Amino acid sequence: QCVFVARESDTAEGRVAASVETVKRMKGLGLDVLVEAGAGLKSRILDADYEAVGARIVGAEEARSADVVLKVRRPTSGETATYKPGAIVIATMDPYGNEVAIAEMANAGLTTFAMELMPRITRAQSMDILSSQANLAGYQAVIDAAHEFDRAMPMMMTAAGTVPAAKVFVMGAGVAGLQAIATARRLGAAVSATDVRPAAKEQVASLGAKFIAVEDDEFKAAETAGGYAKEMSKEYQAKQAALVADHIAKQDIVITTALIPGRPAPRLVTRQMLAAMRNGSVAVDLAVERGGNVEGAEPGKIAEVEGVKVIGYLNVPGRIAASASALYAKNLLTFLETMVDKETKSVSVNVEDELVKATMLTNGGAVVHPNFGGTVQ
Ligand code: NAD
Repeated sequence: QCVFVARESDTAEGRVAASVETVKRMKGLGLDVLVEAGAGLKSRILDADYEAVGARIVGAEEARSADVVLKVRRPTSGETATYKPGAIVIATMDPYGNEVAIAEMANAGLTTFAMELMPRITRAQSMDILSSQANLAGYQAVIDAAHEFDRAMPMMMTAAGTVPAAKVFVMGAGVAGLQAIATARRLGAAVSATDVRPAAKEQVASLGAKFIAVEDDEFKAAETAGGYAKEMSKEYQAKQAALVADHIAKQDIVITTALIPGRPAPRLVTRQMLAAMRNGSVAVDLAVERGGNVEGAEPGKIAEVEGVKVIGYLNVPGRIAASASALYAKNLLTFLETMVDKETKSVSVNVEDELVKATMLTNGGAVVHPNFGGTVQ
């Protein structure tokens, strides 16, 4: 059976859904691998590199011979029209709010999987694209902040005087936030962090950063069984804002990563708080695609708000594409492997598998996922 690795049509997307290593592994599973010409270029993978491990380099129209399509982003309707009905498509589908596009994929007869819906269970850890990509985004956020910051990050004692360490405050200490803390620490900054989940407190401390939060009764119960944050009450948000306002005024760099699954990102930093920061300070809003944590953040731009540079880059993992692709490709391969019969070398979907149940959006001409109007499962 045949796997097609697409070149991303979105020009802002630098990642690719297969690496040299994963193509080699797919070939080892007995699959034919077709790679669309130029698919890996922005991740520094040449067509010849894929060819060297047994892939065939093809044009976009060859997608129609594939049983499995691997992508980074959800295919456009133009792209799905070139896929074979019944083909399996595995990608980041960005399903919330995109019900029309999901219905189109169902109508095209595709069996589609949204990798971001992978359950966070031990068996699926190596398939967790949210973690692999958030980890790199947390790192890149600090690099981007350092690039815009016109002072030094570490304390430097020189004969000509001492440069103080930059003060970095990380809001939201999930996967991205924890990596941002670790990266800022490695650069020598004085780091503090906040979160609404009590479990984050110990994790922040173990990375050598100071934990700052309103630790009331609501905080002590603010984690869902899945380990995610809940939306906090208005009262909590007000107490949190007061604490943050005080703290933020003394910071040089703020990095926000706060998200709540299925909800808009909480607004954590107001214009007033930015105004209290020193001129030339930097804020990075990693939640900008989901509505933003920082007031005035603009998707895809660096906005100047009250003298603070507010970085709102989109697709931050894509800014570190070669590394992001390597991890993303591995996440997809591990999921695909669960569908390959080692004896017959064929790909089939087991609808009883909990990973399939959690991630399958469309199958057999219908939307099947319960979160998006599906009733079949
Ligand atoms: P996320 O991307 O959904 O959110 C980022 C962070 O923002 C979270 O830590 C969240 O608590 C925080 N946040 C939300 N609202 C906030 C507010 N008002 N103020 C401050 N912070 C706020 O989170 P994530 O990175 O996906 O991680 C969520 C949890 O899942 C963590 O406990 C993480 O360790 C866990 N996790 C588990 C697995 C696994 O078991 N396989 C994998 C990855 C992550």
